[in-house]
Parts: sequence; structure tokens; C-alpha cells
Amino acid sequence: MARNPKPSRVIIRIRMRSLLVAFPLALALIIGAISCQSTDKSAQPAVKAELPPTGVYWNKAPLSPTAYAPLPLGSIKPRGWLKRQLEIQANGLSGHVDEFWPDLKNSGWIGGTGESWERAPYFLDGLIPLAYTLGDQRLMDKAKKWVDWTIQHQRADGRIGAELGKAKYATVAQESDEWWPNMIMLKVLTQYQEATNDPRVIPLMDKYFDYQSNLLDKSPLKEWAAHRWADQVLTLVWYYNRTGNAKALELARKLHSQSYDWKAHFADFQYKQKVVGKKEINLHSHGVNNAMAIKTSAVWWQVSGDETDRKAIGQLQEQLDRYHGQANGIFSCDEHYAGLDPSQGTELCTVVEAMFSLEQSMAILGDAALGDRLEKITFNALPATFKKDMWAHQYDQQVNQVMCSPVQRAWTSNGPESNLFGLEPNFGCCTANMHQGWPKFASNLWMATRDGGLVAAAYAPSQVSAKVANGVDVAIVEDTDYPFRGTVRLTVYPASPAKFPLVLRVPAWAEGATITVQGQAQAGVKAGTFHTIDREWKSGDVAELTFPMGVKVNRWYRDGVAINRGPLVFSLAMGEEWKKVKGEDPHADWEVLPTTPWNYALALDPESADQSLAVEERPIGDSPFSPEGAPLRMKAKGRKVSDWTLVKGSAGPLPQSPVRTSALEEDLTLIPYGCTNLRVTVFPLAAPQPAPKAAKTGL
Ligand SMILES: [Zn+2]
Repeated sequence: MARNPKPSRVIIRIRMRSLLVAFPLALALIIGAISCQSTDKSAQPAVKAELPPTGVYWNKAPLSPTAYAPLPLGSIKPRGWLKRQLEIQANGLSGHVDEFWPDLKNSGWIGGTGESWERAPYFLDGLIPLAYTLGDQRLMDKAKKWVDWTIQHQRADGRIGAELGKAKYATVAQESDEWWPNMIMLKVLTQYQEATNDPRVIPLMDKYFDYQSNLLDKSPLKEWAAHRWADQVLTLVWYYNRTGNAKALELARKLHSQSYDWKAHFADFQYKQKVVGKKEINLHSHGVNNAMAIKTSAVWWQVSGDETDRKAIGQLQEQLDRYHGQANGIFSCDEHYAGLDPSQGTELCTVVEAMFSLEQSMAILGDAALGDRLEKITFNALPATFKKDMWAHQYDQQVNQVMCSPVQRAWTSNGPESNLFGLEPNFGCCTANMHQGWPKFASNLWMATRDGGLVAAAYAPSQVSAKVANGVDVAIVEDTDYPFRGTVRLTVYPASPAKFPLVLRVPAWAEGATITVQGQAQAGVKAGTFHTIDREWKSGDVAELTFPMGVKVNRWYRDGVAINRGPLVFSLAMGEEWKKVKGEDPHADWEVLPTTPWNYALALDPESADQSLAVEERPIGDSPFSPEGAPLRMKAKGRKVSDWTLVKGSAGPLPQSPVRTSALEEDLTLIPYGCTNLRVTVFPLAAPQPAPKAAKTGL
């Protein structure tokens, strides 16, 4: 069902206009009603801010001052398609997996004897923002049971979590085994405290940090914790800003002294191809570790104040893009760095951790390009790797994914089930960690600025509530079908007129973007920057953003091409057959087999793609990230490449472009990557057919 909300006032006006013709005697009355609804803003109930019980905290000295500050969880509510997507998630695995999956049902984090390491904290790290972003009481009650157990079972010495030695998997035999899962649980508790103001959280941290500080010399960070330590620095900064207790900064320095040096890793990057062999398959080349590491130097800069830490993320992104970058915005890792071939995979944990890293880095650094990257991953890689009802997910997704089946593909080290859609294909980490993707994106759409305003870090339909200026409550309603459409309408509702800056990210691809305020065009709007509107806002004031979404072609592996429109990447729409492999509905495992050909080269001129690719807009339905619900379609031309065939269940080596093929030109349909289950995204480019007369030079 299409849900394209239109202002009810417009509908009333149209109906009443037709009445005018038929019933002239009603004229005066109707005009009165129209003018009242159209012009008298005071008659329109203002939208009121709905603030969570805690506020914004900025870095206290001596921490480096960040560009922006995250709003407390609960400040941002989803609307439109984003709300429906979060509801799909709540009705899918995220809202139910703890009811039947043994690794949660019998978790040591609620006193059970099952998995007692990272899986419950991972699950809660997504469940809590999902519950409080949606305002879903069932999920809040569920989350509280776990939080209560952790708080009530903190030991006298400050330890948290399961009993030592009781875990089934990754035995928590000694303290150094639990530093990593405890880092996640601390992150969980920060979110829970922001949304509830539960007074038990900070005292728990107080005791835990003492406990950890006393043990770190004897049981130092190792393995996972040594690579993922920045996740705890986030909590230590959070705690320090609320308490001013300097022991948090001492502990942060201690963690740093025992950690892996990611800045050095990317300054002299050694992994320039798909990794092979035991020497290269290690925790430094591990995909999820790298996704978490995206934020590490920026997070550490808050404590170190070292300018090289602040800038290190640029070099990191450059190296990952150059040697392992993929057209969906993420890098390959199946399970380790896997190179540029679009038939390699990317693990779901890597997708959601890269998103979280970018959200945190955006708050710290205030770099508009981080928002572009966040949107690219969120709108493409994230939805593509789930079944549309979010009851099943993949471990590895492929940019060119033409068959999902239990076949041993050319992964670096993953198993044959990795690209099935299932409950825990290959390994169960993603089953636990997948939940944070959408809700944390929603809760980071807006952030606070240092001068009492708000910044739109990323765009999606939402409502933000916050305090601006010197404590004025404001709600901003963001009406948009972005990323499927290019317009965003922001209606501002301060409790009383207030002067504050509204800072709007203008994506780098949005050349020619325009912003109006109350119909007045703003000067100086520039793609790839933030545009600030600093004015007195009154209730009902409107800012409208228009981002032109031209079709853009970019080059990838072996000079293949990917088609982009705004933040969306487009892929070949393929016929698919779903076959149950094992398990029970609704959380069964599925293979997805192609029913239509996929081995096409695109026939287009990359310099004038807008002319050769016709875009059709369709309604934004209940399930926008599905093949049948795709809100955009693109018509393209392609020609089959007969010797581009299946190899070990994947699209074989991508032919070097331009590729010569004598096959007839066919009409192809492209849909957004995030709507597909099977797809080709990086296409070879067909060489122009030999022209009867002189061909263009260069080919
Ligand atoms: Zn995983």
C-alpha cells in the first residue's frame, strides 16, 4: 500500500474548492474555513518537543572539544518509511530472537549457563535503541530485564557479567577474556541511562572502572579487546563528562597503552590485496575489527589532543577504499580483507559497526563526508543483507550476488553457508550484533551544535526534540522520502521564538542543491559542506532542502561501472526463487536462486548516463527495501557477455571493461541495491558496437 502522506489541509482545500462550484450559498462559510486553516498558524496545534529525561553533555576539559554532541537516546523519533522499517525490525528477529535462540535464552548475562561472552551485550546494543527510538513498551520491558540482571549482579569487587568459567563458547575463564564483552555492555548502559535516567548506572560504572583499573596490569587487554578498546573509551568519555572523575581518563590512557595501534596500521598499510594464508589472516586484517577501528583515532583524539589522531580517519578511509573498497560504500571482508572483486563478501557485523563508527566520528569531527559515507552504507549495504521481513540475514553479502546457496565460495576464510539468508548462517555473531544498524542510524540523524543549535547529520523522515538557544524546547518535523526522493521539508516548532543555528549537511553529490527558509532562497549553499541558517525561528517556520539527484556513473574493479543516484547505488533486478534449506519459519534458512540471466555488460555512455538511464518513481510502500516494493526503477540497456559465467556459486571474474560482445541489446531494469536480494552492481561496460563509419577515438 502506498503511503505518501499529504498535508490534510491541502486535501480539504481541494474538496472545498469543488464545493464552491456546486453550492454558491456556502461560499462565505467555506472561504472562512479555508482562510482560517491556511493562514492562521496560531489555530494549528504546534508540535511539542518530547524530550528524554537526560540532556546533552559536552566534553569537559582536558578532553578535546568535539564538533557536535549526540542527543540523548529518545530525542529522535522515526517517521514515514523509517518508522515502518523499525517496526519491521521490531516484529522480526530483533523483537523475538531472545525468546528462542539458545545463545540468548540461556545466556550467562541473565544467570544462564549458555553463551556468556559478547552475544547478549551485542543484542542489547541494538535492542535498547530500537525500543526507545520506537517508544515500544514491550521491547523496553524486555531490555530492562537484562539491564536489571547486570546491575543487580554486580559483584562486591565491581565485576559484571556471567560467572567465570561457566561459558559454553569463548569461555570466560579469566578477567582478560571479559574485557571485550564488558566494553559492549558499558555502551549498552550508556544508552539505557540516557533514555531512562536510571540512577544505578553511573555507580555501577564507578565500581567497575576501579575493578578494571586494579586488574589491567595483571590481566591486560588482549586479542579482541586490544583491537576494540576505543569502544570503552567512548564510555569513559561519557562517564567523565557526567562525573568529572579523572580516574576515567587514567583508565583510558591505560587501555591505550595496551592496545593495537590502528593509526600506525593505516599509515603503513600492509594489506593491499585479498589476504591469504595464516600469516595474513589475523586480528589486524579482520573485517569487524577494522569497521570498529574506523572511529578509533577520532575517539582517542578526545583524550590525546594529538592532531595526527584527529586527522587519521582520512588515511584509514583512503586505504580501505583503495585496496578493499566496494560500490555499496563498505569494504570487503569475508572474514578478512578480501580485495576489490565485487564477488567477495562483507560481513553484516562489519556493516553495522562501520555505521556506528561513522556516527561517532561525525559527532567528534563534524566532517560532512562522514555523513555521506554513513548514508551510503545505511541505504545500500544494510537493507540488502536482510530478508525483507528482517527474520533472516546473511553473514556475507556480495556487491555482485547472483546466487545465495550453500557452496564454498572464494571467501578468505568463511564457510559455505555465509551468503544464505538465515538465523545464524556461518556464525552467530551477526545474529546478535545486527540489531544496532537501523536504530542507531535513527538516533544519530540529528546532533547538538556547540552554539545551541542542531545539525542534520543524515537525512530520513523523523522528528527531533531538543533544547536549543539557552534552553528553549524545540521540535523539528522532518518530512521526506529521502533517499528515494531529493526533497526534505523541515518544520520548526520552538516553544517560544528562539534564535539558534540550524546546520544542514549538503551531500557532496548534490551539486546545485537549494535551501529555502519561509520560501526565501539561501545564498552560498555548497555541496559537500554544512550550510548554517542562523535566525530567529518561530513555530511553524519551514526550511526546504532540494538535493538534485542526477544519475552518476563511477568506476570500480577492472574499470567496471556502478550506477548511482543520490546516496543510492543501483543494481540489476533479477528474478529469484527462495528455497528453504533448514530451520522453521519464520526464522528458517533460505537459499535464493536466480530465475533470470545476470551476465550483462551495460550499454551506455558514462559521460551522459542521465540521457541513457530513465528513472521511474514509484510509491514508497510498506516494504521499500524489497524487489517488488522498490520505490525507484531505472531502465537501462545491456548486452550479454557469454563467457562471464558462474564460478563456485558467484559471478566469475569480472571481464575487463570495455568488453566486446556481439549479443543483441536488451532492456534491463535496475533497482536500488538495498531493495535487491540477487543483483549485479558493478557491470562491465560494453564496448560501443562497431559503427559503420568512423568510430569515436579512444576505444
Ligand atoms: Zn558477524
